[in-house]
Amino acid sequence: MTSKLLTTVKLNHASPLFLAANAARTCWDSNDKSDTLKQLQCTNCLSTDIDTTAMECEECGGSSFENHLGERDEALLERVIGKFKHGSIAEHITINISVKRMPRSVLQEISRHRIGVSPSVASSRYILKKIMKGLKQEDYSKYFMYIGDEVVDSLLEQQITTLITAVKTGKSNDVIKHLLPEAMYADGVYTFNLRAVHAFLNLRIADGVYPPIQYLASRIYDSIPESYRFLTPINEQYYLPANKLN
Ligand SMILES: [Zn+2]
Repeated sequence: MTSKLLTTVKLNHASPLFLAANAARTCWDSNDKSDTLKQLQCTNCLSTDIDTTAMECEECGGSSFENHLGERDEALLERVIGKFKHGSIAEHITINISVKRMPRSVLQEISRHRIGVSPSVASSRYILKKIMKGLKQEDYSKYFMYIGDEVVDSLLEQQITTLITAVKTGKSNDVIKHLLPEAMYADGVYTFNLRAVHAFLNLRIADGVYPPIQYLASRIYDSIPESYRFLTPINEQYYLPANKLN
């Protein structure tokens, strides 16, 4: 049995690109040359009368603007971040994503990317008994990752049986947690700044990477809005298309 339920990534929020343009222009005191800031529009009253120093609408005092990046500023960001490697500018843009069905083996690998990544992962202690109670064999693949290797998948089923036996003993989750297979799925919410995303994608969409994290990285790349991807280029040779892990 091979799992059809692979990792999915959903974008919850991406901070607007004009924040990066504003940051880059502030460094060189060139806000007057920005084609982004000149065209900013308040989402509340639609006014284009914006105080770009305070990032505030002069009309209604609102501070929410259309997500827009002018061509000239896009070229500036490409130059500053891509060519001159001033990655700190990209730290002003964050993405917030929901990840479903990461095998636990991936969590350890993500934890190595410490800077610019804020994780919140479902507590296995908390959800273990909820999942395992009455779990039937036909539902194993909802909660555990099969890799399509007959021997390994069969041994995984033995591990799941062991886990179910352990849960039935009534011992606490803290004790049973020691038996969790790395193939067990976890869900999480992550906030990354775009500099961290770029570093993550470079390292994990590459040759010789552990396939489940290469797959996760490819889904994260998919989740990034197209107009942001010039800040997070990848080596497409190693990109894994959706539903093609095995
Ligand atoms: Zn306004």
